[in-house]
Amino acid sequence: MIDIKSLSLSELEETITSWNEPKYRAKQVFEWLHKHFAEDTGGMSNIPKKLKALLDENFYFPKLEVVDVLCSENDGTKKFLFRLPDSNVIESVFMKYEHGYSVCISSQVGCRMGCSFCASTIGGKIRDLTAGEMLEQIYHISVHENARISNVVVMGTGEPFDNFENFCRFYERISDPNGMNLSGRNITVSTCGITDKIYELADKDYTLTLAISLHAPNDILRQQLMPVARAFTIGNIMKACDYYFEKTGRRITFEYSLIDGVNDSEENARELAHLLKGRNCHVNLIPVNPVKERDYSRSDKQKIQSFKNILEKNGINATIRRGMGRDIDAACGQLRRSYYENKA
Ligand code: SAH
Repeated sequence: MIDIKSLSLSELEETITSWNEPKYRAKQVFEWLHKHFAEDTGGMSNIPKKLKALLDENFYFPKLEVVDVLCSENDGTKKFLFRLPDSNVIESVFMKYEHGYSVCISSQVGCRMGCSFCASTIGGKIRDLTAGEMLEQIYHISVHENARISNVVVMGTGEPFDNFENFCRFYERISDPNGMNLSGRNITVSTCGITDKIYELADKDYTLTLAISLHAPNDILRQQLMPVARAFTIGNIMKACDYYFEKTGRRITFEYSLIDGVNDSEENARELAHLLKGRNCHVNLIPVNPVKERDYSRSDKQKIQSFKNILEKNGINATIRRGMGRDIDAACGQLRRSYYENKA
């Protein structure tokens, strides 16, 4: 069955008119789904019973059941563990910033990219999430936290460009003026660098922020950390990023997780500066979140600062990411991992 929240307004119109119902009903239903975050047809008060029954028969509503919520005592970050109807579990993070509320969503159940520092990939990929399942993470949190979400980051479990079509549907629904109407400028998608999809994205007229997980300034080191780097070289990623910037005018973010003694030397910083010089970009330095299955630790404060200084001296804009909700294991995939371990 098709997930009703993944449908565009015109797809809903087509279906609803094919049932000999008036076209305007589609917009009403769309608004229930994407503006009022209806979880089923029950509360759709202006929709006739017969149409509700047809919707129920032909579509399914993406449903998330809360298994666990962890609340950070430091900064109000909340981490949600949700169960899907097929009993898979995914996680999403709700963060409060001075300028508003932000949600970090998962795009797949698990991940097949194999990055060596990441907990999300340990059990591999189980399945893709539908667009509706991506949306529902935001809608659910918005309703239950009674919060207007102003920022969305697709940086949870999964590689969004390995689930590109559903990701695009997700983007088009959440930015739809008849729905939540979130500006693309408030949406960030992070990829490990699947270059053909960067080109495809550049050719759409999306206004989102593209973040590239770089983590190393050269291919040799990158291949040690990220198996996907064997398929996509840094040179090709940079070409794709230049094309993206040319087409969209949107500044690209490069993510660089600093791992003690692995990719955090001054030489690494100089090489990164050289690579990015002249590009309109931003570097997000992330002190690595130690994952217990992995033998990595975070670089000390001084080293992180000097890495940042080298970038800045070379005219490259850099920030150090604040570790939100560290006390609740807010690193990718760690809550989900411990859920499966406890079950086993
Ligand atoms: N698959 C996408 C998005 C999910 S990961 C991607 O690779 O970009 C979101 C970001 O967190 C990526 O930059 C990822 O490399 C980084 N990350 C994963 N595990 C981490 C850890 N243990 N510590 C710090 N950053 C991590």
